[in-house]
Amino acid sequence: LETMVYGPAPESTAAARNWLARKPFGLFIGGAFTMPGDVFDVRDPAQDTTLAQVTQATAADVDAAVNAARTAQADWQANPALRARVLYALARQVQKRERLFAVLESLDNGKPIRETRDIDIPLVARHFYHHAGWATLLAEEFPGARAHGVCGQIIPWNFPLLMLAWKVAPALAAGNTVVLKPAEDTPLTALLFAEICLEAGVPPGVVNIVTGDGTTGAALVAHDGIDKIAFTGSTEVGQIIRRATAGSGKALTLELGGKSPFIVMGDADLDAAVEGVVDAVWFNQGEVCCAGTRILVAESVAETFRNRLISRLKSLRVGDPLDKSTDIGAIINPSQLARIRDLVAQGVAAGAVAHEGTAPEGCFCAPILLDQVSPANPCVSEEIFGPVVTLQTFRTPPEAIELANATRYGLAASIWSENLTVAMDLAAQVKAGVVWINATNMFDANAPFGGMRASGFGREGAREGMAAYLRKGDPAQGAAPGAIDPLPANGTP
Ligand code: NAD
Repeated sequence: LETMVYGPAPESTAAARNWLARKPFGLFIGGAFTMPGDVFDVRDPAQDTTLAQVTQATAADVDAAVNAARTAQADWQANPALRARVLYALARQVQKRERLFAVLESLDNGKPIRETRDIDIPLVARHFYHHAGWATLLAEEFPGARAHGVCGQIIPWNFPLLMLAWKVAPALAAGNTVVLKPAEDTPLTALLFAEICLEAGVPPGVVNIVTGDGTTGAALVAHDGIDKIAFTGSTEVGQIIRRATAGSGKALTLELGGKSPFIVMGDADLDAAVEGVVDAVWFNQGEVCCAGTRILVAESVAETFRNRLISRLKSLRVGDPLDKSTDIGAIINPSQLARIRDLVAQGVAAGAVAHEGTAPEGCFCAPILLDQVSPANPCVSEEIFGPVVTLQTFRTPPEAIELANATRYGLAASIWSENLTVAMDLAAQVKAGVVWINATNMFDANAPFGGMRASGFGREGAREGMAAYLRKGDPAQGAAPGAIDPLPANGTP
C-alpha cells in the first residue's frame, strides 16, 4: 500500500536512470529516431547534474519533420476509427508507464514526485482518453469541418508532458498531424512519449518531436508547410510568433503568461482559502501560468488570514523532488532562480514586507509572501513564475474587482466566499478566461482553458479546444472558408 499510495518505488527511479543511460537522443521524425546531431545537455536542477544529451534540431531537421507530417496527414484525416483507437492506446501506454514518466518528469523539471504522479501524468492519460472519444464524434458534432493539416506545436517547461498532451491529443483527434517542439529545459518526457507512439501504433509521420531551443521553434513557425501554430509560453515570445505568422494564412492559438487574482471575501472559509493559496502558488514551485499570485483579501479578515497563511507557509517543505514528503521542488534553472530573487528584491525595495519559509542550498526557492505591497509594486504587476505571492487588502467588492482587473493579463481568477451569489456576481466581472470559485488550479480535459488580453487567445480542452484544431470544409467543394464556431447549432455548449 505504501508504494501504491506514496511511490516512487526505488525501481522506477532505477528504470528512469536506465532509460537515460542509453543516449544521446536523436529526433523523432517519420516514425523513427534520427542519429543524434549537435547535442546540448539536459540538466537535473535539483542535483545540478547532467541527465542526458539531446539533439539541437536545425531548420533542415524541421523541414524533414514537416514533410513527414505532410505525407502522413491525408490518410490520418481519412480514418477517424483509427484515430480513436490510437489515442486510446496512447492513454493506455501512458498509464502503463506512469511511474517512469513521473520520475523522469520530476528529474527533468524539479517538480515534486507527489505532483507528477498524482496530477501531471493522470491528467495526461485523461486527456488522451477524452480525445479518443472526440475522434469519431467530429462528423456529427462539427459537420463539414476538416483538420487544419500540419500543426507546429511549441510548449514550455513548467508542465512538459501535460502541455504536450494538451497540444497533441486534440490535434490528432481532429485529423491533424503534428511537429512538436518541447522546451529545451525539459525535452525528456516528450522523447519517452515518442517511444510509446511506436508501441501505440501511431502511423509514421503523424507525431514528430524536434528538440532544440528557440531557434528550432522559430524555424517551425517560419516553415511554409505549417497550417497552424499552437504555442504555450511567455507573452514576449507569443508576440514574436504573432508577428511572424501575421499575413501568412497560418492559424494561431497562444496560451501565454498570467498574474491571476486570488480574492478572499469577508465571509470566506479562511482555512480553506489558506489551503487554496498553497494550491494556487506553492504548487509546482509557482511555475504555473494561471497561479493565483495576487491575494486580494477583505480588510475585515485580513489580519486573521495573513497570520494563518504565514504559519502555513513556514510549514512547507522545500527540497528533493523525489522525496514523497516534499511540497516544493527545485526551480527550473539557476537563471530563473536569479530572476525570482531579483524581482523579490525589487519588491522589497519598493516597500513590501517579505515573509519567507526555508529552502536548502542550490536551485531552490523558499515560499515567499510579500505583504504591504502598493499597486505600483513590480511584484504586483510582473509575472514572477516562482513561489511568490503578494497580499493586498480591499474594503468593498467593487474595489476588489478594480484591483483584480488592474493587470495586463487575463488568464485565471479564484474567488473565495460562502455566498455563491456574491461569488458568481464577482466572477462575471473579473477579466479572466477561467474563474474558479472556492477552488483553484483545477484542470480537466472537458473544461476549456485559455486567456484573454496579454494571456493570449484560443482555448484548449473540451469542445472549444476541438474547434481550435478544425476549420470549415474545403471551399473548392462549396464550404464557406474560415474558423469553426465552437458552439453547436442549438447554441448549448
Ligand atoms: P518561453 O516563451 O521562453 O518558451 C516557450 C517555448 O517557446 C520554448 O519551447 C522555447 O524554446 C520556445 N521559443 C523561444 N523563443 C522562440 C521563438 N522566437 N520562436 C518560437 N519558439 C520560441 O517560455 P518559458 O520560459 O518556457 O515558459 C514560461 C512561460 O510560459 C510563462 O510566461 C508562463 O506563464 C507561460 N505558460 C503559459 C501557459 C498557458 O496555458 N497560458 C501554460 C504554461 C506556461
